[in-house]
Amino acid sequence: MSTVVVFIDRLNDGGAEVAETGLSKSSRELLTLARGVGEPVAAVAGALSDVVRRELGEYGVQRVLHSEQAELGDYLVVPKAEFLAEAAKAVSATVVLTENSSEAKEIAARAALLLEAGVISDVIGLTPELQAEKSVLAGSYLVSVGVSSAGSVFAVKGNILEALPTENPAVPEVQELSVEFSAAARGARIVQRTARAASSRPELTEARIVVAGGRGLNGDFAPVEALADALGAAVGASRAATDAGWIDHSLQVGQTGKTVSPQLYISVGISGAIQQKAGMQTSKLIVAVNKDPESPVFEIADLGIVGDLFSVLPQAVEEIKRRRS
Ligand SMILES: Cc1cc2nc3c(=O)[nH]c(=O)nc-3n(C[C@H](O)[C@H](O)[C@H](O)COP(=O)(O)OP(=O)(O)OC[C@H]3O[C@@H](n4cnc5c(N)ncnc54)[C@H](O)[C@@H]3O)c2cc1C
Repeated sequence: MSTVVVFIDRLNDGGAEVAETGLSKSSRELLTLARGVGEPVAAVAGALSDVVRRELGEYGVQRVLHSEQAELGDYLVVPKAEFLAEAAKAVSATVVLTENSSEAKEIAARAALLLEAGVISDVIGLTPELQAEKSVLAGSYLVSVGVSSAGSVFAVKGNILEALPTENPAVPEVQELSVEFSAAARGARIVQRTARAASSRPELTEARIVVAGGRGLNGDFAPVEALADALGAAVGASRAATDAGWIDHSLQVGQTGKTVSPQLYISVGISGAIQQKAGMQTSKLIVAVNKDPESPVFEIADLGIVGDLFSVLPQAVEEIKRRRS
């Protein structure tokens, strides 16, 4: 059985400590996927609390390689990649899994270089034979790909499977790894951090439900936000909406925005251009609300509602609240 190193990043993009006390949803998903491929070993960068250690055991990890070296938080990306590569070498792993955020993809690529391994990003499925499934050419095709080198690094999208703890949890053994970072690792120092405005909504790429709005909202995102809050969902947007300044660019979904694969994607007042589809068409269930019955979004929607969003969304929110109470 191959050893699969799963990168558990306890430091946010830019190095600050993550807010969650336990493992993130995407970390739990990665560990679940790793168990289907081999024996998971966690490479944990940043603080390793008792809660995280216990959860790692619950998700089938028997061995943890850990580092809290200052460089991991003080510099951009490279120290994390060097730590991950060292961890993989320490356990002779031929398979490495990371998340698929832009930072995680860079870590995956740099670690793969150090390991002389192949790297595949945007993975939405992985077989025990290490054939990865991914969506390419702006979402026009689903392809199955594998690497030809001995080692492989996969950056895996969130929400592609249900995170499940193992039936045989163990208390993992923790080994401290002290990495001799290269000069390049100290190349880009973080000089200042600005905390993001706190949001009670889930992170866009991790959310199980996304409600996304487009130009049809005509500058008023309130109906989309109300539906998102009723469902405990994240808010997303088309580029037309972010370019117009109606909502933050970090919430853009699509070819030049974020890629999401939630269980449910509700597209509101979005026409479904190919560049928008590229970021959301691997969602499990797509519901579209659009007043134009000819809108291309209905070609990819599992369920379509032809109507004015300003009338449809408040009714949906009211009905959800009524059923909840
Ligand atoms: C290189 C490149 C990269 C791009 N990257 C992205 C990207 O990452 N993400 C992205 O989204 N786009 C991207 N685009 C832009 C993309 O091509 C589209 O222009 C954009 O997605 C359109 O946004 P929209 O669907 O919100 O607006 P529109 O195409 O204008 O559609 C608005 C829709 O709202 C409907 N509508 C209007 N009023 C109502 C109402 N009251 N109730 C219900 N429905 C209503 C209309 O029928 C229409 O279908 C990119 C383009 C290029 C060239």
